[in-house]
Formats: sequence, structure tokens, C-alpha cells
Amino acid sequence: MAMMITEECISCGACVSECPNNAISEGDFYYVINPDKCTECVGFFDEPQCVEVCPVDAIVLDPDHSESHDELLAKKRQLHGE
Ligand code: SF4
Ligand code: SF4
Repeated sequence: MAMMITEECISCGACVSECPNNAISEGDFYYVINPDKCTECVGFFDEPQCVEVCPVDAIVLDPDHSESHDELLAKKRQLHGE
């Protein structure tokens, strides 16, 4: 399941550099996560790194992008050409 950023986001930008997949960017109103790139950090870290650094807990699981651990790992491998 990809992560998503809610309207709680204060656009601090702290999460951007933490993402191993470059999935986070500045959106029209607040920061956004590209679900095609987010792997919940599977293959890199045990916990979603963006969630760890967000000061206002604005990053949650995206119920519209449900994926198994194996699917997330396959996405990670596809993104990084492995
Ligand atoms: Fe990037 Fe990991 Fe956050 Fe997904 S969970 S947006 S891969 S830092
Ligand atoms: Fe928004 Fe949290 Fe990312 Fe800061 S760390 S830009 S508040 S989602």
C-alpha cells in the first residue's frame, strides 16, 4: 500500500529527502506522494521514512492503493532496475 499525505501537511519539506524512491514532491496545496513510486520503503527500511520525520503526522496509508509486501518489493525492484 502506498502512503499518502493529508491536508494536515504544513509543507515543511522534511520528508522529500528521506524518500529512497523520490516519490514525494510539492503539490498545488501541500506535498504529495506518487503512488507509482511509493513502496512504503520496502526494500530499504523497516518503517516508512517519511512518516518518521513528519512533524505533524500528515502521512498515512493510502486505502486506494492496496498492495502486498511482495508487490511493493517488485515495485522497488522495477523502479531501481534490479
Ligand atoms: Fe517514500 Fe518511503 Fe514515504 Fe513511500 S513510505 S513516500 S517510499 S519515504
Ligand atoms: Fe508535509 Fe509532513 Fe512532508 Fe512536512 S514532513 S512536507 S508536514 S508531509
